[in-house]
Amino acid sequence: ARELGGGHYQFYTPEMNSKAFERLALETDLRKALDRQEFVLYYQPKVDMQTGQIVGMETLIRWEHPDLGTVSPAEFISLAEETGLIIPIGEWVLHTACKQNKAWQQAGFSPLRVAVNLSARQFRQTDLVATVARVLHETGLDPEYLELEITESIALENADRTIATLNELRTLGVRISIDDFGTGYSSLSYLKKFPIDTLKIDRSFVREIDTNLSDAAIVTAIITLAHSLNLKVVAEGVETPVQQAFLLKQKCDEMQGYLFSRPVPVSSFERLMAASTKG
Ligand code: C2E
Ligand code: CA
Ligand code: CA
Ligand code: CA
Repeated sequence: ARELGGGHYQFYTPEMNSKAFERLALETDLRKALDRQEFVLYYQPKVDMQTGQIVGMETLIRWEHPDLGTVSPAEFISLAEETGLIIPIGEWVLHTACKQNKAWQQAGFSPLRVAVNLSARQFRQTDLVATVARVLHETGLDPEYLELEITESIALENADRTIATLNELRTLGVRISIDDFGTGYSSLSYLKKFPIDTLKIDRSFVREIDTNLSDAAIVTAIITLAHSLNLKVVAEGVETPVQQAFLLKQKCDEMQGYLFSRPVPVSSFERLMAASTKG
């Protein structure tokens, strides 16, 4: 710490100060972003490995910042989480995704399941189940077309409470998916206790599937494990035909990644759906 005189100390270097300042500015803007309608949802297709057809999509939020341009969730979700803003933002995401999915069904697209990410704080909020039930009611979406993605570390934070929450969500008819599988805890015993439907293999294992023997072994093991527990398995971050071929050979059910499509806005997703059902 540097003495500034008068008993005042400056604890931060100029760079840290400007980081802290940037963060505060971002927080100020984040508080206004919902009201200013600066958030947009992108959708990334999940594709059946056998048929190549789109079978669902993941909802991914983007922030169209007036000065900074598009801000990725990696840059603001943790801030939203720390400030509690994730609660209203998360509810907006859930509502908008369900409403959009219902609109697509009403427009005649074949019904698909929409996945929405839940952060730790959202998952722990006491009225989560009531919120999900209300959103489904408000939007008229059949619960079987909603899937909630939670990470392994969130699920394991308080296992008993997680099981209770997941059971209530399941009773609503909603699907549950474990996101970023393999990156969290080493204990697998929770898998038999948790009422879940799907494991999503983290991108970090898929990336070097064709060059790294350990990654290939881990992916193969996860697929076998999932199937023996009657769970569906989805690979994320599939970018190359070689990765796709490996996953197909190992009987992975679905894939998601740039190879098929990046996350895209509504109108582009409609074109993808139209092309997928024709084929
Ligand atoms: P995630 O849930 O693991 O989402 C997958 C991320 O991988 C997305 O990044 C997606 O754009 C990216 N991705 C998909 N395919 C590929 C690929 O083939 N290659 C590569 N390199 N990347 C791929 P994105 O959209 O930046 O989102 C980052 C994270 O932010 C998400 O990770 C999720 O944890 C969080 N997030 C996004 N939207 C929401 C939301 O609405 N609510 C909450 N709570 N979190 C969200
Ligand atoms: Ca996810
Ligand atoms: Ca993921
Ligand atoms: Ca991830």
